[in-house]
Amino acid sequence: MKVPFSYLSRQFANIKPYLAAITRLVRSGDFTLGYPVPAFEKNIRRITGARYCIGVNSGTDALILSLKAAGVGPGDEVITAANTFYATAGAIAAVGARPVFVDVNDSFLMDPALTEKAVTKKTRAIMPVHYMGLPADMRAFLDIAKRNKLIVIEDSCQALGASINGKSVGTFGLAGAFSFHPLKNLNVWGDAGAIVTNNAALAERLCKLRNHGLVHRDEIEFFGVNSRLDSLQAAVGNVLVRHFPEINRRKHVNAERYNAAFARLYPRVRLPRIDRGLVHSYHLYMLYAEKRDALLKFLIARGVEAKIHYPLPLHLQKASRVYGYKRGDFPVCEDQVRHYITLPVHQHLTNREVGFVIDSVAAFYGKGRAGACR
Ligand SMILES: *Cc1c(COP(=O)(O)O)cnc(C)c1O
Repeated sequence: MKVPFSYLSRQFANIKPYLAAITRLVRSGDFTLGYPVPAFEKNIRRITGARYCIGVNSGTDALILSLKAAGVGPGDEVITAANTFYATAGAIAAVGARPVFVDVNDSFLMDPALTEKAVTKKTRAIMPVHYMGLPADMRAFLDIAKRNKLIVIEDSCQALGASINGKSVGTFGLAGAFSFHPLKNLNVWGDAGAIVTNNAALAERLCKLRNHGLVHRDEIEFFGVNSRLDSLQAAVGNVLVRHFPEINRRKHVNAERYNAAFARLYPRVRLPRIDRGLVHSYHLYMLYAEKRDALLKFLIARGVEAKIHYPLPLHLQKASRVYGYKRGDFPVCEDQVRHYITLPVHQHLTNREVGFVIDSVAAFYGKGRAGACR
């Protein structure tokens, strides 16, 4: 059986409503910050409960613009996790600041105690990552920020739909960045991103910053960039967003089946710790697995398209050499990247496919039905 990691070929099987929305947009000629953009921003406000939403070109730009608008720049340090996607650190570097990495905990997330230890006189901001879609410990990070007078910008790119005690991720800090990349929880047909905030002044600045700093057609207040959310992508997002509750529901059904099955394989397989009150978005379903490399090979040979997110942590990337990091700096993270594995969890998996993934992992450890055949 083939269990694909990507859902894209299944997701747009019924393409008609999308093409109808695009046809309407093309006929209107309203391409630049056209009517789908504010409609999409409203959808994201509704999902997150944030007061303001500013649509931008990508999740990466959402991070860069948030940092810029908050005044983070050269000479500043921004603390983030060592095990995130490249764009988190890339955004920090892009505004001329220095990414400072910290180790992670048994939730695979940035460790608050180590974060506080990493604060220096130059630290301006903390950028917690809701990695995999699992909310970071925002209460702890907000405390650290308050004590040290730091800005908090949440990298929520993997976590639309995730929450802490009913409050959406992205709304705890000064700003939260979301991505609508084709493989994210809510996805479009290319690139798109958004920033949410409850701060009116920041929202206004971001609105200008994404559009050359324009106040109106012939006047700019400051030099900005072109990072407008594409109207066509917004139109696609506005159709797909109607399915968002169902996308979330299906992912949770799949993940809960996995959780129950894999808990029985402890300690050879360990689940990330999920504290009470947290709702995971299950952008990535990750496990800590013994003999990970062999498991990965075994699963792929059986047709289960498992992945590793990500095999080389940020501090060991060539790009980080200028900062002087070395192997051994973040032992928990370095151990996890040798053990974690990502399984397909998406909303278009059938019950049989989920069962096949479970049986396959169990078989590898000699415990499953399939294992009995050997
Ligand atoms: C996807 C992602 C981004 C960047 O989003 P893009 O829309 O691809 O630019 C940033 N941070 C994290 C953690 C991500 O997963």
